[in-house]
Amino acid sequence: MKQTAVLYLVIPCYNEEEALPETAKQLEQKMLSLMQKQLIHQNSRIVFVNDGSKDKTWKLIQQYHEENHLFQGVNLSRNKGHQNALLAGLMTVKTFCDVTISLDADLQDDIDAIDHMMEKYYSGCEIVYGVRNSRETDTFFKKTTAEGYYHLMQFLGADIVFNHADYRLMSRKALDGLEQFKEANLFLRGIVPMIGYQTGEVYYARKERTAGESKYPLKKMLSFAWEGLTSLTIKPIKMVTTCGAIVFFVSIIMLIYCLIRHFTGETIQGWTSTVVSVWAIGGLQLLSIGIIGEYIGKVYLESKARPKYFVTEYLNDEQ
Ligand code: UDP
Ligand code: MG
Repeated sequence: MKQTAVLYLVIPCYNEEEALPETAKQLEQKMLSLMQKQLIHQNSRIVFVNDGSKDKTWKLIQQYHEENHLFQGVNLSRNKGHQNALLAGLMTVKTFCDVTISLDADLQDDIDAIDHMMEKYYSGCEIVYGVRNSRETDTFFKKTTAEGYYHLMQFLGADIVFNHADYRLMSRKALDGLEQFKEANLFLRGIVPMIGYQTGEVYYARKERTAGESKYPLKKMLSFAWEGLTSLTIKPIKMVTTCGAIVFFVSIIMLIYCLIRHFTGETIQGWTSTVVSVWAIGGLQLLSIGIIGEYIGKVYLESKARPKYFVTEYLNDEQ
């Protein structure tokens, strides 16, 4: 068995002033109980990452840090999005801990699963995925679109864990692995399985937000889903090629058919098929060019290799 581990909880926060007080309270109790059970070391910490919030989030984090050494804060230079904020937090604390668990600020992910995650860690897992086994609190729309998305991703060949979001335990070794992925289009739940090592899963029921509103409106959710898809798999491009081949094959048959009709002297008809095929092929071409364009755009962004975040401040024990 491994020695009692130093655990850092990493929580990205964007405009979470309403949720933070309750979250901080519950997480503090959780950490104390974990320490009591000797599942984690006394030096374990709770780290809030402020992702350029416009409300009082950072003020609250500073206040928690002053009042209680259990809390730490990482302040980002501006809003960089959930995935980048999470990565910034993980990379900032990596050298101070043995293991991290990432979770959302609204505590929709059941924190009692942390105990099981730690047990899995002690039994040798370097990565433990939190998997939702019930989505009763999600709306019908969110549930069907989310689960459909996981199926689509798996169908397209991306190796993602079904119904797992960003609630996961990662050991320092796994984080060292993560650090070596240099991509700018970050979709953590797709990258982490590529690291490998021994992994485990812990199941929990997803709850309601404790307070505040979702920071993922439909538009952002769709763009996140598209980002994930195009950064993990090139199957859509292959599908475009297949489509092209099929259409080309059909067009040869059409050509033969038209020639036969021409030589048998029936050439007046055909307006409908002409118009239909012009539209169909035009549409298909536009779609294909669009999909290929998306990937070229990605290559363009990746080739710039822009920095993903800047940490302006890290409130830790030394200050
Ligand atoms: N979040 C963030 N930056 C953003 C958007 C969201 O750090 O630009 C954080 C947010 O504070 C929360 C987590 O990401 O801790 C997940 O967001 P949310 O709970 O709103 O998403 P949902 O659960 O509705 O999908
Ligand atoms: Mg949430």
